Amino acid sequence: MVDAAGPTAFHPAVPRTPLVILDTPDVASLRGPADLPRARLDRYYSTEPCSNCAASCCSAKVELTTVEALRVAHGLRIAVEAVVQRIDCPPNLADRMASVPIPLDDGLTVLRLRHSAAGACVFLQRLLEQGRCAAHAHRPALCHFFPFRFRVNERTLSMGDPAVCPARWVKSAALEAALRRVHARWRRDFSDEKRLVRDWERAGGAARPWREYAEFAARWVEARRKWTRPAWMLVPATRAGWRK
Ligand code: SF4
Ligand code: SF4
Repeated sequence: MVDAAGPTAFHPAVPRTPLVILDTPDVASLRGPADLPRARLDRYYSTEPCSNCAASCCSAKVELTTVEALRVAHGLRIAVEAVVQRIDCPPNLADRMASVPIPLDDGLTVLRLRHSAAGACVFLQRLLEQGRCAAHAHRPALCHFFPFRFRVNERTLSMGDPAVCPARWVKSAALEAALRRVHARWRRDFSDEKRLVRDWERAGGAARPWREYAEFAARWVEARRKWTRPAWMLVPATRAGWRK
């Protein structure tokens, strides 16, 4: 059910406070044994935990905005349906999601990175014991934030489930700067996503199918981001079973 005020009302007032990065111990500031944090004792703490990892986080279900999905599609020159799969919007999570629920003729939808039959993101490439991302330069914010969990309404990054990712980051200026850049880009993307979904609602989107939304969104984003796509990307994908 679409709320009377529309799905964009699920995110009425996202605070404009700076991003807070939790759980990153600062090893450089330690002075004595009493200060020893887990960071000195736990082998999983590192300034570069992803460099030699099988990328188990890429088996997680990664939510993304339409804007982010189109960035991947444009960057890799593939159809947006090859990037995402649709799921029904979980009603109890609508106000905590990093994307805006999209009203369509078959209900409220959110987007996630497409998974392969093996149960991991379609862009994950495994090389021996390591995992590498085929969409690395274009990947969505939640991928950038791994292994942190991003809480949209609180504007915090905190360590995620160690069963998914055992790594823990040690504080560094470079890491924090990178995370803040990603967060700033996510804010722009999310802000555009709200306008996009609002315009879609006003165009009668709740009675229209996904394929029309995908075309509407692509043209909307291209007009604002100056992204261009080759003509063949306009052809709807026919991949069997990509929906839901
Ligand atoms: S976030 Fe964790 S699981 Fe993902 S690649 Fe980095 S170390 Fe590996
Ligand atoms: S886009 Fe890349 S980083 Fe994100 S889940 Fe897929 S393989 Fe992993």
